[in-house]
Amino acid sequence: MPDQLRLLLGEDVIAQRVAELGQKIARDYRSSSQVLFVGVLNGAFIFLADIVRQLDFPHAIDFLRVASYGASTETTGAVQIRKDLEISASDRHLVIIEDIVDTGLTLSFLLGHLAGSRPRSIEVCTLLDKPSRRQVDLVPKYVGFTIPNEFVVGYGMDYNEKYRHLAGIHVCVPDPTEGIRVP
Ligand code: 5GP
Repeated sequence: MPDQLRLLLGEDVIAQRVAELGQKIARDYRSSSQVLFVGVLNGAFIFLADIVRQLDFPHAIDFLRVASYGASTETTGAVQIRKDLEISASDRHLVIIEDIVDTGLTLSFLLGHLAGSRPRSIEVCTLLDKPSRRQVDLVPKYVGFTIPNEFVVGYGMDYNEKYRHLAGIHVCVPDPTEGIRVP
């Protein structure tokens, strides 16, 4: 049985919201120096590319990659850094760019990790938020869309490395015969 996809957010709706978010971030950080955008790989690569093209001030961009352990659609909280920043976060204003905050366990781990480098500030910008699933007290400053508890793909987000290329965001009901890999 193939995976079943249902469109949740179309390309135009995403583009308009991302432009609004980017412009808000630009207003908030235009007068700050040493701003570093931290993309969380792989899911946030398209979102970050679209956000930074809204910005009209000098900034740096770097990426990190984390791995969570568990064989389901849920993270277990056991998070490990697979690729760390190559630009020092010390004394910079950090804006973490995430695809989706679900339980919040990944982001909570990342905030602790990045705080160790003594940045000047840290804020979170997530395209999607599933607050109903939160296990830690974490409220991202910039949120694109609040969505219900469903597994989504597209616009950078995958199911078993499929569907990252889709321009819209779709609810995915996976083929029950295929195992789900947590990014
Ligand atoms: P959390 O630690 O907040 O539970 O999980 C965050 C990470 O889990 C996200 O960055 C994303 O990689 C993955 N994730 C959570 N929900 C979804 C979803 O609906 N679709 C996809 N593709 N990944 C998700």
